[in-house]
Amino acid sequence: MKQEKNGIWKSWNENITYKYKSLYSITSEKELQEIILKSDKVRFFGSKQSSADIASGTQTLIDISGYNKILSFNDSDCTITVQSGIILGDLLEAIEAKGWCIPCLPDINTITIGGALATGTHGTSGKLLCEYITNCTLVLADGSIKTINESEKIMDAIRVSLGVLGAISTITFKCEPLYTLHVKEFPENDSDWLPKIKERLQKHDFLRVLWLPHTDKGYVITGDKIDINTEIKEDLGPSYLKHRRTASKILYKYTHIFPWITAIANKILYKGFFSSTKEHKGSLYQATVTKSRGSTLELAEWTIGLDKFAEVFEELKTEINKWSNKSFIHIPMDIRFVYKDKSWLSYAYKQDIVTMGCVSRNAATADTYEAFKSVEKIFLKHGGKPHWAKRFTAKNAELSKVYEKWEDFKTLRQTMDPTNKFLNPYLTEIFNEKK
Ligand SMILES: Cc1cc2nc3c(=O)[nH]c(=O)nc-3n(C[C@H](O)[C@H](O)[C@H](O)COP(=O)(O)OP(=O)(O)OC[C@H]3O[C@@H](n4cnc5c(N)ncnc54)[C@H](O)[C@@H]3O)c2cc1C
Repeated sequence: MKQEKNGIWKSWNENITYKYKSLYSITSEKELQEIILKSDKVRFFGSKQSSADIASGTQTLIDISGYNKILSFNDSDCTITVQSGIILGDLLEAIEAKGWCIPCLPDINTITIGGALATGTHGTSGKLLCEYITNCTLVLADGSIKTINESEKIMDAIRVSLGVLGAISTITFKCEPLYTLHVKEFPENDSDWLPKIKERLQKHDFLRVLWLPHTDKGYVITGDKIDINTEIKEDLGPSYLKHRRTASKILYKYTHIFPWITAIANKILYKGFFSSTKEHKGSLYQATVTKSRGSTLELAEWTIGLDKFAEVFEELKTEINKWSNKSFIHIPMDIRFVYKDKSWLSYAYKQDIVTMGCVSRNAATADTYEAFKSVEKIFLKHGGKPHWAKRFTAKNAELSKVYEKWEDFKTLRQTMDPTNKFLNPYLTEIFNEKK
């Protein structure tokens, strides 16, 4: 196992940095157990793509990304078992080759499975990724292994657990037969797409809305399952659409100094990149997941019950359109839909939800991006929950009000990690533990 000493850990967009004493790159479960057993404080990480300060900040760190093998397939159950450092894209290619899929995917393929599960990563029109786990093994604070099956009650706590109950070692996913989606993309006025959400969720197998703040428009993406041989009129729009991210980068360059430029930039971006329609087909992975990004960015994301979304949306829109408010928001705010589950720290615990992303295209100036504050204030006021991997300031006091199982999770955490081995400074505050 490789060990680096006295270095600096940096998150992918370099907004979080920490000095460490020892960084171990592991490739086996035995090595993972060994380091956890001998460390007083330890965090583990995958692709470092989280905006929240949850992956580092301890003297000892473990890089899990080299622990990344596919262990087995079970053809009769349609399951795959993998090591937790595997990159999502590699897992998805392997199951597509078997004719299988996981039916709800995030819009990124470079993250590790361990990182994705720990933070409640989700896609749209389905459940959180962790809801497709049937079995997993966890390396506990004393270095021992615990195997957990979906039939056990504790699985509801483990599925979204931020790596504070242990390190997920191996995971078995239940897959479904691969299907083809007929995807249509088109712009629509806010007054049209907003009231149609529930109807479209019934009608389509896939629904996502890229909201374009300061334009009164959303860009609607629907998907319907079709037979793979069905012919469609493919239209990927003008070829210059591929330059959207570069154009955004240029137009937003000075928006941290003059935030109001954003409102003008968004109108230009709408006309240039979101006013045409598109039509194509492919698997969920091929047709809807972004495969590469030109540059880093900074993200926040909030979630709210489906029934409350329209009210929260209108309040947010009114607030950010006031010229007295400096929250001019970069395009797009990604609106997605997740169905209810039973996982304690899931955003969708016992209710169908809407998730709303907020992006700053300039990661380095994200501290001055007022939008993150306005979005957090409004969602929290209505009982919304922040995405665990993204930027937010809420701590124990606020989180205990929105998570029904908060205290139960804290009690379980204290039992499973009595010396707070897995807490860094940020997580210590989140769970209101002693430093
Ligand atoms: C461009 C971009 C797009 C994104 N799109 C989406 C999206 O569509 N939907 C969505 O929900 N999220 C999305 N995210 C968030 C992303 O899914 C999470 O940040 C995810 O945690 C990143 O995985 P990672 O491998 O980088 O994890 P890291 O950032 O390295 O780690 C995240 C957390 O997981 C813990 N962890 C890592 N491995 C393990 C393990 N084996 N066992 C236990 N805990 C572990 C770490 O300690 C840390 O607390 C996006 C992020 C970016 C940057």
